[in-house]
Amino acid sequence: MAIRLDGKALAAQCRAEIAERVASLKAKGVTPGLAVVLVGDNPASQIYVRNKEKACAEAGIQSFPVLLPATATQEEVLAAVENLNRDERVHGILVQLPLPKGLDERAVLAAIRPEKDADGFHPYHAGKLMVGEETVVPCTPRGILMMLKTAGIPLRGKEAVVVGRSAIVGRPMAALLLREDCTVTVCHSRTADLAFHTKRADILVVACGQPQLITGDMVKPGAAVVDVGIHRVDGHVVGDVDAASVEPVAGWLSPVPGGVGPMTIAMLLQNTVEAAEHALS
Ligand code: NAD
Repeated sequence: MAIRLDGKALAAQCRAEIAERVASLKAKGVTPGLAVVLVGDNPASQIYVRNKEKACAEAGIQSFPVLLPATATQEEVLAAVENLNRDERVHGILVQLPLPKGLDERAVLAAIRPEKDADGFHPYHAGKLMVGEETVVPCTPRGILMMLKTAGIPLRGKEAVVVGRSAIVGRPMAALLLREDCTVTVCHSRTADLAFHTKRADILVVACGQPQLITGDMVKPGAAVVDVGIHRVDGHVVGDVDAASVEPVAGWLSPVPGGVGPMTIAMLLQNTVEAAEHALS
């Protein structure tokens, strides 16, 4: 039976450490601030934003919600970002994705000052990560790497397979695993034989947005499997991994919920605190 990669417990530890760092910043007269820009009224985005604000409040981070209507123009969104770039109380800026159709997501993300980019989605950070330099790392892959390392899972020289090539999870995850000396394969929707690759993986990170796509017969015995997906199916929350068939085969498995999700939020707080620390230094 796979060992559970308990993201909820690890995230609680991280958040306690973050609260201490916030306290020491406050002692120096700085309250870390995170601005969350939400455009439109997508219900899932509203829940994510609320959860992020709650986590900020618990950690002592001030949040600055910026709510724009679904009808906001590209210029209005860019102007909101520019205001936050200039606001000294704001150390981290996050634009909740997806943006409503018609808005240029890439241009909006690129308008955030890199020093204030709490999600690490700016091309500046993506480029630095790609060449293997220290930089702001996107929250989900950063949290996953921390889970793997904390569990003592060996990475150097291991076969790592990432399923999904999105700019927010799959690609930065692959770059991070490469930085850890894994041999990395990235699979995607056009991969010819997915199981051929996943069966070779010592570390398998699944972020394909397809409910329960990865089954036990696609997993190498003893592998570390990280499930990034989150879906509601027939009233149940499930991931991109079929936990029932993978659990008896894998060496480690992250649960959904309680795995990657809480780590993503913890890393958002950490990126914000680090931005505030850099602003002070
Ligand atoms: P995305 O839709 O942007 O990208 C999905 C990727 O999977 C694409 O690169 C696509 O090529 C690939 N893919 C799709 N179908 C495939 C298939 N059949 N075989 C192989 N590859 C396939 O998604 P994303 O933003 O990277 O998110 C992935 C999942 O993770 C979603 O379920 C999302 O909700 C979830 N997510 C969770 C967190 C968290 O904190 N828990 C954070 C981000 C995303």
